[in-house]
Amino acid sequence: MSNGKASLSVIQNAKLIVVKIGSVIVRGKELGTVNHHWIDAFAQDVKALMDSGKKVVVVSSGGIALGRKALGIKENTPPQNIPLAQKQAASAVGQYHVFDGYYKALARCGLECGQVLITMSETESRRMNLNARDTLSTLLEHGIIPLINENDTISTGEIRFGDNDRLSVRVAQMIGADAVILLSTTDGLYTDNPDNNPQAQHIPYIEKLEEKHIKMAGEAVPGLSTGGMKSKMDAALSATKTGIHLVITDGREDHALEKLFSTSSKRHSLFYAQNGGKIAARKMWIGSHMRPKGSITIDEGARDALYHGKSLLPIGACKVTGDFNRGDVIEIIDPSGKRIGMGISAYNMRDAHLICRRNSKDIASILGEITSEELIHRNDMVLED
Ligand code: GLU
Repeated sequence: MSNGKASLSVIQNAKLIVVKIGSVIVRGKELGTVNHHWIDAFAQDVKALMDSGKKVVVVSSGGIALGRKALGIKENTPPQNIPLAQKQAASAVGQYHVFDGYYKALARCGLECGQVLITMSETESRRMNLNARDTLSTLLEHGIIPLINENDTISTGEIRFGDNDRLSVRVAQMIGADAVILLSTTDGLYTDNPDNNPQAQHIPYIEKLEEKHIKMAGEAVPGLSTGGMKSKMDAALSATKTGIHLVITDGREDHALEKLFSTSSKRHSLFYAQNGGKIAARKMWIGSHMRPKGSITIDEGARDALYHGKSLLPIGACKVTGDFNRGDVIEIIDPSGKRIGMGISAYNMRDAHLICRRNSKDIASILGEITSEELIHRNDMVLED
């Protein structure tokens, strides 16, 4: 399947969909106002999708953009130049307007929504991740649309998603969604930056996202956006690796969502899911970690063993870094320094360090007890291709 139009059927047939809307779309012409006209049309599109039996989760940006006016932040100040405390305060004001805009528009279509504000640290703790998943599933079971944003008033620097592209994918992984739709100000991936290069060609279908595509996307962050193409590529990579399709389309026109589903001619880039479909939620959670707590470097023999479906034994581990506890997700690094996967460590950093290069039968004498013969069990591990 190399034709973008034909391949869009995987999105059109999706049952559980996460739709992300960028700040530029949500905000109205005047600073501090909501684009009610667009949101009304969007609510009608969501209603039509739900009437056709689909479940929809909405991730909307706009909290910070809509709070700018109250905080006296100028229209043209790029997000990266706004001090964190001001962004947090702006989102406290603006998030109300975001939710209010969607709530009223959806209500006019006979739909109900519930606000869920998420922080990255919650999604990286297994227990909190499960709690958040239960909340979202319960809302969906009751026909209520989860309306999600990052909890920007309390999320700080290091532990922020920062952009809702990756947050949307994390949410999709959490609930086992089939597809993520990014309604953006761009209609997808180009061979080069189309703003600077008129020869740049649009790519409608990306069967497997590779390094060359990531290079094409570049680092540029357009205008007032937080993430730009870079965060969209990160999001697409994470989604497709975990068996979720991701599509980027220009969402600015009214009924952009409906057009994507009904006409197939709406310009878009589709990133096709890998792994032959969805992978188990637990593995998805492991593989999608953005901030692993540490790493274990392994030798050649261990790398081969892992690719033959074996667990990682202490004898194959050469080096341990970071500060992690038993149960934390860490990176697995091969002898050339390349990350080849992620897994849940059965030992904390200190103990892992002590048993490195040692035979499993010596663990008890080294540590005084043995919790597990493996450093990372194969069921607790996700390898990259
Ligand atoms: N969470 C941010 C907000 O609501 C938006 C992040 C993004 O632009 O992706 O303002």
